[in-house]
Amino acid sequence: MTEVIDGEAVAADVRSDVADCVETLADAGVDPGLATVLMSDDPASETYVSMKQRDCEEVGIEGIHVDVDVDAPAETLFDTIDELNGREDVHGILVQLPVPDHVDTRSVLRRIDPTKDVDGFHPENVGRLVAGDARFKPCTPHGVQQLLAAYDVETEGADAVVVGRSDIVGKPMANLLIQKSPTGNATTTVCHSRTTDLAAKLADADIVVAAAGIPEFIDGSMLKAGATVIDVGINRVEADTEKGYELVGDVDYESASEVAGAITPVPGGVGPMTRAMLLYNTVKAAAHQRDVDVSLD
Ligand code: NAD
Repeated sequence: MTEVIDGEAVAADVRSDVADCVETLADAGVDPGLATVLMSDDPASETYVSMKQRDCEEVGIEGIHVDVDVDAPAETLFDTIDELNGREDVHGILVQLPVPDHVDTRSVLRRIDPTKDVDGFHPENVGRLVAGDARFKPCTPHGVQQLLAAYDVETEGADAVVVGRSDIVGKPMANLLIQKSPTGNATTTVCHSRTTDLAAKLADADIVVAAAGIPEFIDGSMLKAGATVIDVGINRVEADTEKGYELVGDVDYESASEVAGAITPVPGGVGPMTRAMLLYNTVKAAAHQRDVDVSLD
């Protein structure tokens, strides 16, 4: 029987832990605050930011939002970040990506105070993750790690294949899986757009993390029987629905669930975990900045 990994349920547990931490912080006189910054008129980015603000409200985190005009010079965004870096009521800062072409993404990420960098994309935080001394783990791979732990998926000694090598998902995911830790210790292969025989790599994988952004391109015939399949992909495909589209993962759920031992659905798998781990990082940031002991690793 294939087990369906319920990201909504695990994310609810994370949010409940976060809400407890918010109370502990409040008792110590700290109201955790997350600032989101949007320099885009893309409706999807607007939706993501408003969802993050709603999530904050639900667990008692103060949400602060700043819009930067999409045509403003890069300096305007940098000034906004500088101001938020200096604000005591802002413990976490998230600049919604992508930023417009005239703004250099790396400069944006470097500008954020690394102790407030709740996305975990500042080079200092990337370096710490690679060194096995993470301050903030990026939300999506951290969420995957939490799902694997919640479902007692043994990573130690397992053969894991990460499909995708982005800075946001694939690379940090692989780094977490190879760490010398109870939630790591996996023999990890990273596949990407130049991988010559993806099917051969997947055939031996005990754990597959799919993050390529290609709709349903991994099917059951490519998987090892009993594998744990974590589908990070969120792809819009045309469909006969009210909106005219539906969301599918990178994995063909129907055929994969006949072979896999455990599998995440899309939606309802990794997505809710990514959102929950942002809240987790925010309370962690507040606790560290104000030297309050909360029960988070
Ligand atoms: P990206 O476009 O930055 O990276 C995609 C990666 O896939 C690249 O590294 C590329 O080398 C690799 N790739 C492309 N074609 C391939 C192929 N044929 N075989 C193997 N690898 C191939 O994307 P991303 O930001 O890492 O996101 C990946 C997917 O995950 C997207 O669908 C995105 O929407 C989704 N996503 C979901 C969440 C979530 O919370 N569930 C969070 C972030 C991203």
